[in-house]
Amino acid sequence: MRAYIQYGSTRIDFQLMRSSRKTLGITVKPDLNVLVKAPVNTPIEKVKERLKKKASWIIKQQNYFQAFHPKTPPRKYVSGETHLYLGRQYRLKIRNSLKPEVKLKEGYINVFVNSHSGKEQVKKVLNDWYKERAEIIFRKIYDDVGKEFSKRKILSDIFIIRDMKKRWGSCTPGKKIIVNTELIKAPKGCIEYVIVHEMCHLKYPNHSKAFYSLQSSFMPNWEFWKNKLEKIMS
Ligand SMILES: [Zn+2]
Repeated sequence: MRAYIQYGSTRIDFQLMRSSRKTLGITVKPDLNVLVKAPVNTPIEKVKERLKKKASWIIKQQNYFQAFHPKTPPRKYVSGETHLYLGRQYRLKIRNSLKPEVKLKEGYINVFVNSHSGKEQVKKVLNDWYKERAEIIFRKIYDDVGKEFSKRKILSDIFIIRDMKKRWGSCTPGKKIIVNTELIKAPKGCIEYVIVHEMCHLKYPNHSKAFYSLQSSFMPNWEFWKNKLEKIMS
């Protein structure tokens, strides 16, 4: 069943699942949903009471996951507009050519399209280029990072780069590491941070103390890059 509690001005929705377990468990999912598992005969009031006590922790977890949600405003794909690449701002220049391509030069991101092209075509050429660059750059970082992880027997099965609506990355129970193509707009340190973060989930599928200490052992300054990611992509 679905229900909610009111905590100050914040409404916290949750999904309640009952089972034969003995204790009540609260989980905040990466998609910000709250899942509560409770013993079969716990009254709903008891569940809500418990959630209120844990409310500040729940909000903290949700804020944490929120930080992984891309927030870049929609673009118009017209000359003069600013676009990001590896954390740097470039000014978009739409240029005429029969061969669609993208070239970076002196602060400009030149998108070559034929003269009849509309905004959709510019967007497609630019996004294809972002994808191409992401494949090269993310894979290189993943290979370097992966070497360090494999020394400690932490291995992923497959590395996937794709567009994600709500997150920067994820680690599936099947040991798949997935990274959002959008990260190509962030500095390399941010990309490395997301990959390290997700790789650490191969060992700990949570945000426990042990998880953070593992993350710090692979990337001592991860907090700097996390903050940078939140700032630059907002
Ligand atoms: Zn995480």
